[in-house]
Amino acid sequence: MIKKHLLYINGQFVAPASGQMMPSVNPYTSEVWAEIPDAGATDVAAAVAAAQQAYEHTWRHTSGVARAALMNKLAGLIEAQAERMSTIESTDNGKIVRETHSQMKWVGRQLRFFAGYADKLYGQQVPLDQPDTLDYVVYEPYGVVALITAWNSPLSLLANKLAPALAAGNCVVVKPSEHASVSTLEFAALVEEAGFPPGVFNVVTGGAQVGRALVDAPGVARVSFTGSPGVGREIAAAAGRRLVPVTLELGGKSPNIIFDDADINKAVIGALAGIFGATGQTCVAGSRLLVQRGVYDEVLKRVAVRASQIRLGNPLDPQTEMGTVANEPQFRRILAAIENAKQAGARLVTGGARATGPGLDGGYFVQPTVFADVSNRSELAQEEIFGPVLAVIPFDTEAEAITMANDSRYGLAAGIWSRDIGRVMRVSRAMLAGSVWVNTYRALAAQAPFGGFKESGIGRERGEVGLHEYLTTRNVMIDFSDTERDPFAIKN
Ligand code: NAD
Repeated sequence: MIKKHLLYINGQFVAPASGQMMPSVNPYTSEVWAEIPDAGATDVAAAVAAAQQAYEHTWRHTSGVARAALMNKLAGLIEAQAERMSTIESTDNGKIVRETHSQMKWVGRQLRFFAGYADKLYGQQVPLDQPDTLDYVVYEPYGVVALITAWNSPLSLLANKLAPALAAGNCVVVKPSEHASVSTLEFAALVEEAGFPPGVFNVVTGGAQVGRALVDAPGVARVSFTGSPGVGREIAAAAGRRLVPVTLELGGKSPNIIFDDADINKAVIGALAGIFGATGQTCVAGSRLLVQRGVYDEVLKRVAVRASQIRLGNPLDPQTEMGTVANEPQFRRILAAIENAKQAGARLVTGGARATGPGLDGGYFVQPTVFADVSNRSELAQEEIFGPVLAVIPFDTEAEAITMANDSRYGLAAGIWSRDIGRVMRVSRAMLAGSVWVNTYRALAAQAPFGGFKESGIGRERGEVGLHEYLTTRNVMIDFSDTERDPFAIKN
């Protein structure tokens, strides 16, 4: 039985104005398993209007304590339903339940972390040069913010945006990816159950045209986007035309650097986690493995052997280590990138094709793939693949590693594996990346800011700086002197 989902606008589950639906495919079976609304401009306008009404009449007058209480209630609901929600998300995007289950807990953690700020949005009293003047800053929400997410981790990516946006006092219109919208629509039912006022949280679904209509909607005061660099550029340009600020969380081609002196066991696990976790469909994938010559052969061999043993299978089976690629277009893109690398002469060590066999033939499975002796200047090392494809690159010196690591148009993350504290300090300081992991990789914390340098993005999520993406300031200056001023000179 294929479930037909509805939009969530103004506290109601509603069909799109056009009545149009679109299929959502289970990438493990390649079959349609749900239908989602294919919204249009009318639905987007209704969602934005509902959010504006809710902001003006309810949410901006709701105390921080009350906002926090609702957010904590929502956190409790998603935590309690982590199993059901992770099954939904894994069915929709093929990511293993081992990961989606922990991501549902992460959604709760993010909501709780930012709920803690909702009643602590202290302003500042500003000491001025001028006597007899009181100056203070108050933090204000923007109003209605548009949150647009990618398919690889729909609810986890949403939580990074939603939690600070609500804590700051904004109302939101969410647009998940057309490839994996079901968990976000189901999440709307939890928002409803938590008791949020109608219009504070709205979801519209559909493809690029829905995203465009949302970014262009006059009532949207800020946009936060997670997705590909190409679409990020388009959104920044559209937002620029309306002069509304954007947060962009985009792609990466992150270097994971293993030095001779590293704990090799830990480093090999870190290399595997970096590229084969989430089938490589993660913005922080450590897709360039830079290995110092002294341990190069050993690391390459161990990574390749373990990669060839990764247990592929049903994403819903807790034993599965790598699920499917999330959708057919992405599956084709990954296989094409592998073919290109082979044509360009890259040395294939393991994988390199569609994975087939019992339990795999119906799904979009790609073999864990390792290429060795890759040039850092090659397409394989420069272009984001967003799949389980690793480029292993040898280096000799620390300086060479730094130069190669930074020789990328991206700057999302970097990994450093070393026991030498001096080296760790030098190399981490040199990384042009928003997240540097030392002797760990793909590890997140609600408190720690995350975002990209260079073409990996604009702005930050998580941590206190993530909150301030959703707040603007008003400065108030009060002259309490009893003297008269010169009206023809500015007072400073
Ligand atoms: P995508 O850019 O194709 O789509 C992302 C979202 O934008 C979808 O909801 C889509 O419908 C919407 N969209 C598409 N065109 C639009 C337009 N012109 N205007 C407004 N909205 C539009 O990305 P994807 O394929 O879903 O995700 C993969 C990409 O996301 C990768 O590049 C990956 O690195 C990146 N990503 C980044 C992070 C991060 O935090 N930095 C996290 C996950 C994924």
